[in-house]
Amino acid sequence: MVEKENNSVITLCQDLIRFNTSNPPGNELAAALFVEARLRQAGFETSLIKHDENRATLLAMLEGRPQSDTFLFVGHLDTVPCGDLSKWERDPFEAFCDGERIIGRGASDMKGGLTALLTAAEVVKGRKVNNTIILAFTADEESGCLGAISLLDIPRIKDTKMLLIPEPTSNQIGVAEKGALWVRISARGKSAHGSMPDQGINAINEIIALMNALDLSDFELEKNNHLGTFTHSLNTISGGIKTNIIPDSCEISMDIRTLPTQNHRDILTAIAGAVKQVTDQHPEYAFSCETVISKPGLETNCGQAQVARIVDLIQSSKKDVNKIGLNYYTDAAVLVPALNVPFLLFGPGDADQAHATNEKLDLSKLYQSCEIYSEILKKIAFE
Ligand SMILES: [Zn+2]
Repeated sequence: MVEKENNSVITLCQDLIRFNTSNPPGNELAAALFVEARLRQAGFETSLIKHDENRATLLAMLEGRPQSDTFLFVGHLDTVPCGDLSKWERDPFEAFCDGERIIGRGASDMKGGLTALLTAAEVVKGRKVNNTIILAFTADEESGCLGAISLLDIPRIKDTKMLLIPEPTSNQIGVAEKGALWVRISARGKSAHGSMPDQGINAINEIIALMNALDLSDFELEKNNHLGTFTHSLNTISGGIKTNIIPDSCEISMDIRTLPTQNHRDILTAIAGAVKQVTDQHPEYAFSCETVISKPGLETNCGQAQVARIVDLIQSSKKDVNKIGLNYYTDAAVLVPALNVPFLLFGPGDADQAHATNEKLDLSKLYQSCEIYSEILKKIAFE
């Protein structure tokens, strides 16, 4: 019996991986329709939120008793692209299973997590539930979070009392995630012949001066038990067209990862301060700064009753389980500030495998996650 159940879990995960939902372009619609058919069979009322011709977010609801609480489960359907296919040992959409793990794009992030949700949904099949359960399968988490943003327009979503997200945590309990602030800075200069630099304004020199003036070390002093410290890195730079031309433009982008207590406005103020310091010294320099992404860091309140109940359940179902923080952002970064709800991140995938070439998912973790999500749904539905 157990073997039969395990086989159906493997098949479901493989089916999900075989929908190529690499974002861009996403093309999540076909996967959303597949999920919709399963959830309708399990008794959920479903609706599709179309983003464009081939993109959609699926919403599935099982209504509880009047005045009951609403629990929202959110998983994303899209994946990052595969990168260099020649580096993959197998076709990333074959979803090859070697008996211990499944290899494929999205295996860990997060079609394994979706498999756990869909498997758990079977436990409520054809039964009346006490609390309302909403499952959302979103598009575009790996880019602009179109799907999560569209959920905020749905009136019933506003009733959410708690959010659960099966993002990769290796079945550890994610109670916090770092924020992300991506900043693009451009410097404008004046081109001139490379032999006469004093005739131009070197935009690369402008960026060097700015980077030397920028000091974010104060933000590094703070520490969060689950997330560690603030980080920042300069990850792209482009400028200049030829060795003998003074460059008139240079552009960089920075990836800044923040703690829940850190306000992105303060970091942008520090950057603006560095810009001012440099331009005071060099009035001919000109910079423009643009915020590309700003997602706040999050930390859930573990003392909150619903959170404590589910943490207890996970801890009693599994040995060696710890509360952890995630370095990356999830759909929670859109949903939690807007809905002001407690949340947990818990899923079978391995964060180290997320976005990796030859992405893998351990079957033992997948089975365990399916079992625990089934227990969570039972508790929410029937207690
Ligand atoms: Zn993810």
